[in-house]
Amino acid sequence: MFDLVLSNVRVDRAITDVGISNGRIAAIAPGLDHTGAVVEDCDHALLLPGLVEAHTHLDKTLLGMDWVENTLGPEIREKIDNERQMKRVVGLDAARQSARQVVMSIAKGSTAIRSHVDIDTENGLADFEGVSATRSRYSDVIDIDIVAFPQSGLVSRKGTAELMDEALRQGADVVGGLDPCSIDHDPKGHLDLVFDLAVKHAKPIDIHLHEPGELGMFSFRMILERTRAHGLSGKVTVSHAFSLGANDYLGISRLLDEIAAAGVALMSTGPSMVPVPPLIRALDAGITVCSGTDGMRDLWAPFGNADMLERAQILSQRNNLSQDIEIERAVDVCTYGGAKVMGLADYGLAVGAFADLVVVAGRNVTEAVVTLPPRKLVLKRGRVVARDGQALVEAP
Ligand SMILES: [Zn+2]
Repeated sequence: MFDLVLSNVRVDRAITDVGISNGRIAAIAPGLDHTGAVVEDCDHALLLPGLVEAHTHLDKTLLGMDWVENTLGPEIREKIDNERQMKRVVGLDAARQSARQVVMSIAKGSTAIRSHVDIDTENGLADFEGVSATRSRYSDVIDIDIVAFPQSGLVSRKGTAELMDEALRQGADVVGGLDPCSIDHDPKGHLDLVFDLAVKHAKPIDIHLHEPGELGMFSFRMILERTRAHGLSGKVTVSHAFSLGANDYLGISRLLDEIAAAGVALMSTGPSMVPVPPLIRALDAGITVCSGTDGMRDLWAPFGNADMLERAQILSQRNNLSQDIEIERAVDVCTYGGAKVMGLADYGLAVGAFADLVVVAGRNVTEAVVTLPPRKLVLKRGRVVARDGQALVEAP
């Protein structure tokens, strides 16, 4: 007997039933016994594992607030300094704002989120505390990882490392880092601090690396050296890694193989304005790749909707993927890749896995990516948390 049966649902191109008990997939087979179960007729819609938003900034979104006109130039440092000061001016409450984005993510089918959260000497741990409150509030409907993120600099802003240490002590899940050359102008100092915090707290690492070309490759190699030296294979992610989109005469192929061998994962959002790591080449090298919305409707840029199926479309377009089998790999990045990076146990479409699932109209995965229908059902641990594109939990 099952608690819930998803009937007439498409799994691996076949129409079948999925029985769910105690929050887990208990059976996948046609004609399951529905006796005593709640039945959701899925009308031949497609079943996907829960989407994984593996890189965003829940503390930053302006969702539901007054519009703030963006007049910033393209420099990262300008955006960082503006945001740190403007957050308090516009009244950005990280608890309220992160909750709004979480509810939007649930409606779009995400069942897990990794969020970088700013930690700096001006705003202290306020954003971390706000997102932590949101994590507690929605803990039964979504998994949230918090990255202690030194957005304004680590070595160059004295006191930040101590605040990061405190956030990790208070439950931050991941040690963040950022452009060790171009932000801190001290790659050794920055990366040694990041890796020392990771070792001290036994936590994984996720570093924003926007640095282009040979500068980014230099920083990446310093990350690989430290990953190997500390035995952190499988525990380090490099986000963006725009340098890997440089011309291959610089030795990108060899670096990709070194990244695979070191067990370092990549996160790419597939942005349109900069070079990006070659997705299929990275996957073929054996690298775990995940994706995310990154900042959404914030003081950096007004775009984004937290839809990881749309993200698979953006990744596909940015990487010139057109074959069904390639687009399916982009969806794998937005599901299994993110799950692996976040270390989600018992994830996927298999008997025994947690019933973290999305039901979406489509005859196959590629059609769902192309048409992006509202999510018919979203399940977290077997509980329906969104239906027909609407979350069943409230935002403040
Ligand atoms: Zn980011």
